[in-house]
Amino acid sequence: MKILILGGTREARELAAIASGERGFDIVSSLAGRVREPMLPVGAVRVGGFGGADGLREWLADNGIDAIVDATHPFAGGMTANAAQAAADAGLPVLHVRRPGWREEAGDRWIRVPDVSAAAEAVAGLGDRVFLTIGRQGVAAFAESAQWFLIRAIDPPDGAMPVRYELLLARGPFSVEDETALLADRRIEVMVTKDSGGALTEAKLTAARALGVPVLMIDRPPLPAGARRVETVAAAWEWLRQAGSGQSAGRVE
Ligand code: NAP
Repeated sequence: MKILILGGTREARELAAIASGERGFDIVSSLAGRVREPMLPVGAVRVGGFGGADGLREWLADNGIDAIVDATHPFAGGMTANAAQAAADAGLPVLHVRRPGWREEAGDRWIRVPDVSAAAEAVAGLGDRVFLTIGRQGVAAFAESAQWFLIRAIDPPDGAMPVRYELLLARGPFSVEDETALLADRRIEVMVTKDSGGALTEAKLTAARALGVPVLMIDRPPLPAGARRVETVAAAWEWLRQAGSGQSAGRVE
């Protein structure tokens, strides 16, 4: 059974590692090609966009794909929508792997906003020193902001930047101790983050709670209507195994 895993996440790499070692599964992982030195999954990897839902549908047919696992980041809404559309057009099963979002705890001071532009509007009244930890995409939405920004990303953002900022290039995981020290050292008054979920980058929220720093939490884009979703790699692997046994019995759901 030939599977396309849409990746760029730890979950995608873990699933590729499990499934590549199993008989009967031929895995191709796909990366967008945004990060200069990506962490590569084991097995076959292709890099770069497909050319929208139509391009993806053609690629699926050309490569004899039997099922798709969309294990992209919760904020990769465009790729997720294209995967759902192309799979529907091609009559292929698709599963979306989405780790749970973060949960607010006692002591947290979160303000939820629907998207990056709403965060850029809301941040104005919340403090002069902002920790912007949303990755390299979306930073341009803050270009008109008058505040000072600590911007952390794996690679430098390529769009417009705020007038006053420091760029910190770093890849998680980060410890609570280091995050607390960073917030204190840069005298951060407000944090802006996406609700990515997961343990790898959660320490910043613990640090914000401890220091009483408010957090502008950007909500995830919704999954396509009717999308089949699981939260864990184990559940995704179970779905793949069932799809595999269904296919060997002549049916894939
Ligand atoms: P996006 O806005 O949903 O995708 C924009 C376009 O990039 C897609 O239409 C597709 O181009 C291409 N693309 C995205 N993911 C791809 C993949 N895995 N393989 C091949 N093409 C892909 O996505 P994004 O937010 O830019 O994220 C890009 C990648 O970075 C994803 O793989 C995601 O898992 C990873 N990532 C994103 C974030 C984040 O905060 N957004 C954080 C960590 C990792 P075509 O239309 O030409 O096919």
